[in-house]
Amino acid sequence: MNPIDLRSDTVTRPTAAMREAMLLAEVGDDVYGEDPTVNALQARIAADLGFEAALFLPSGTQSNLCALLAHCERGDEYIVGMEAHTYRYEGGGAAVLGSIQPQPLPQSPDGTLPLAQVEAAIKPVDPHFARTTLLCLENTWMGRALPMDYFAQARDLCNRRGLSLHLDGARLYNAAVATGVAAGDITRHFDSVSVCFSKGLGAPVGSVLAGSNDLIARARRWRKVCGGGMRQSGMLAAACLHALDHHVERLADDHARAARLAEGLRAASGISVLGQHTNMVFFETPAQHLPALRRHLEVHGILASIGYLPSVRLVTHLEIDDAAIARTITAFQEFNP
Ligand SMILES: *Cc1c(COP(=O)(O)O)cnc(C)c1O
Repeated sequence: MNPIDLRSDTVTRPTAAMREAMLLAEVGDDVYGEDPTVNALQARIAADLGFEAALFLPSGTQSNLCALLAHCERGDEYIVGMEAHTYRYEGGGAAVLGSIQPQPLPQSPDGTLPLAQVEAAIKPVDPHFARTTLLCLENTWMGRALPMDYFAQARDLCNRRGLSLHLDGARLYNAAVATGVAAGDITRHFDSVSVCFSKGLGAPVGSVLAGSNDLIARARRWRKVCGGGMRQSGMLAAACLHALDHHVERLADDHARAARLAEGLRAASGISVLGQHTNMVFFETPAQHLPALRRHLEVHGILASIGYLPSVRLVTHLEIDDAAIARTITAFQEFNP
């Protein structure tokens, strides 16, 4: 019985075709800027998302960190969601390495930061305060694709108050596919964007940060400070290029399967589905049933993210097919705590 791993879309392994593309990649030393495949990936993302330049990094965490370090100086501040990855799940890197203070704000259920609250949080120009220089948004957030009109409003606020605007677009392409909007139409409102290839896009490693020439030059320097660049990383960039060609449109399948999974879970006793957004399903079950649920799923070869968030999260991806959805629904419907 093949295990069904619904913990995260990061668990995807490169397909045979992706491995083939990696094997055949032309490579060079990327720290010298001489890896043709890395350069092609960077140029393609910059063009697709409407930026002057882009930079390939090993992880989304390092990409966001280099973005924060490139936007902010010591004693600056970024406004960010309390549940945002860049605040909560990145080891406090911007504070640790950049002396950049986060100003976290509660997110609305749709993942937006209410702009009146953002504006109220901007500190006066006064020696008492950190300098508020950046607003950081996330799309998708907990699977939710943020509403399109929100980005224009956030851009207006940033223009009016002299802030830069960064997007943690780890799952930008899920948002684009779910809303039917080109990724570049989402990102045109931002000064920088970080995109992950190691999630639903199915590459083994890699994120790309896009922004202006100046910003990317600063981020490139910070990438070195944060542990260095990679050398013949074209083999990894080839996986990302393959993903752009073959794994973007199919994200719609992941979303449809997540919807079907949510529907099946709604018919299971003791499970209350809180929501389904793009490739994620969230549900609750009474806390005393969680150990039994974990054991039950294990017996059925199913892995879920239990005990990490207040709710249980199931994530669909490249390796979750219709049969896996059917088996998962059956297992949940047979759960009898
Ligand atoms: C996964 C993720 C990241 C960071 O990615 P890693 O490659 O795991 O470091 C950043 N932001 C969001 C929203 C993510 O889901």
